[in-house]
Parts: sequence; structure tokens; C-alpha cells
Amino acid sequence: MQNQSNLEVARVRHPLKFRLLRVARVETLSSTLVRVTLTGDLGDFVSASFDDHVKVFFPAAGEDKPVLPSLGPDGIVFPEGVERPAARDYTPRRFDPVANELDIEFALHEAGPATAWAAQAQPGQYLGVGGPRGSMVIPTGFDWHLLIGDETALPAIQRRLTELPSGARVAVVAEVTNRAARIPLPTEADLYATWLYRDELDSEQPLVDALGEVWLPPGEGYVWAAGEASAIRAVRAYLVNERGVDKKRIRASAYWRQGAQAAHETIDD
Ligand SMILES: Cc1cc2nc3c(=O)[nH]c(=O)nc-3n(C[C@H](O)[C@H](O)[C@H](O)COP(=O)(O)OP(=O)(O)OC[C@H]3O[C@@H](n4cnc5c(N)ncnc54)[C@H](O)[C@@H]3O)c2cc1C
Repeated sequence: MQNQSNLEVARVRHPLKFRLLRVARVETLSSTLVRVTLTGDLGDFVSASFDDHVKVFFPAAGEDKPVLPSLGPDGIVFPEGVERPAARDYTPRRFDPVANELDIEFALHEAGPATAWAAQAQPGQYLGVGGPRGSMVIPTGFDWHLLIGDETALPAIQRRLTELPSGARVAVVAEVTNRAARIPLPTEADLYATWLYRDELDSEQPLVDALGEVWLPPGEGYVWAAGEASAIRAVRAYLVNERGVDKKRIRASAYWRQGAQAAHETIDD
């Protein structure tokens, strides 16, 4: 059993910075996931947690570079007389200070400026990146970890799996479009992974159904969940009400909401 004092989630703030970055590489990871490796002004980039996000700014139609805001005394300011760029939240999947590279992985779906950009991404193009502004650092020392989500959560889940030490117990429940959307999940930890394929299921809440089959070991655990708002709300309610998981030991986030653009919400009571 772990000492409780080592299990506090720490909030860390970072100075906010906006960067213009260049695409170095584009890699197709699955039927729905594209990895874009960015390079450029990353010298003082900091991302302290797998749960972090950056704001990605996209070029307007016909432009090669996005308009970027700056930080004024009263907050974020966009240049006058130009339309604000489309901006969406993404996980810093991998930052390599030696290679000066930042990976972002885009889940492709039907429509939206981010998806449209990622579907055509090529080396030499530009994106803007703001943040991360802060991090919630979740200790790795829990007796068990449960990571839940859809394609939008896979970058964070992969990153968490790379940082969990040998011997850590982790279960992943991942819901993706189809079998071709499954990706490898390399880790030193003891991993129990459940993949759910939307095109093979007729459940209204496949994540909740699958969680019914997941055993939660004794001891101190931590649950991290991200994906579509109503699906993750149902996951959190199920874990708290049916499985007795302590609310303080769940970090649940809406990474998108059906029918809404650029939705982001921390799910609590
Ligand atoms: C903290 C945080 C971290 C995130 N990290 C990642 C990440 O690493 N990788 C990643 O791919 N996404 C990530 N997301 C989710 C991503 O920001 C949203 O999916 C975003 O809405 C995509 O923008 P868009 O321009 O493609 O679509 P939008 O213009 O925002 O939305 C257009 C339409 O598409 C729908 N939609 C949005 N996302 C999806 C989806 N995934 N599947 C199906 N329909 C969708 C919306 O409901 C809307 O109807 C993250 C979100 C948050 C809040």
C-alpha cells in the first residue's frame, strides 16, 4: 500500500507563451490518428503532465501561417483588424528538448478546422501553439491506474503509459471507431487493455459496459478519463456510484461534445 502523502495531485503553473512552429514530419498511426511532429521555437517549452494541453492555432484559408495572439498586461491580445484563427486544444504527446521536437496526435473525424488541417498536413507547413498554461501532475505511485477514453484521449494515454514505471498496474479501456483505429500501447507497466470498436457494438454506453468487466485491485488507485462529454459523465457516475471510487481519485474531462465546437470541460458534480 502506498503512503497517502506521496499521492497528492500537484497543480503547477507555467508562463504562457505562443509559438509559431513548423511541421517536420507527418505519420499516419491508424485509420483515425495522425501524428504531426513540430519543430522551431521550443527552447523553453514545458509540459509537466500527460494530462496537459496546448492551444493549437490553425492558418486561415489561403494563408500559410496562423495569426498568433500575444500576452499583454490585461491578458491575451489578438492583432487588430484580422480575423481570429481557429484554435483547438491538443495534448503535447511527446516533447524532446534534444531533438527540439513536439508531437501532436490528431484524431480525424467528420468535420472541423483541426480535423481538416490534420487530414492535409505536410512537412513545411506552420501551426501556432500556446501553452501549456499549467499542469495537474498525477503521481505515478498509485497501487493501480485506470485510463479511459476515445481517440482524443489516446495521445494522453500513450504518454502516461510511457511514464508509468515497471511494476505499476494499469488498465486501459479505449473506445475507437474500428479495429484499424487500434494502436500499439508500449509500456514498462503491467498493462491490461480493453479495446472497444464502435462499428462492432450496439451499446449506448460501451465504456460503462466494458468497465463492468474491469477488476479494481485493492489499495490506492487513480482514474483518468477523457472523451465525449456525455460518455465521460456516464463513466464518472458509474465509477463513483456503482464501484465506490472516491471522487477525489478521478480526473474526468470532456475533450469534445457531440454537436459543439471546441468544447472543453472538467467533469465534476
Ligand atoms: C484538454 C484537451 C486535450 C485534447 N487532446 C486531443 C488530442 O491530443 N488529440 C485529439 O485528436 N483531440 C484532442 N482533444 C479534442 C479536440 O480538441 C476536439 O476533438 C476538437 O473539437 C477537434 O476540433 P475540430 O476542429 O476537428 O472540430 P470542431 O470544430 O471542434 O467540431 C466540429 C464537429 O465535430 C464534432 N467533434 C469534435 N471532435 C470530435 C471527435 N473527436 N470525434 C467525433 N466528432 C467530433 C463536434 O461535436 C462538432 O459537431 C483534446 C481536447 C481537450 C479539451
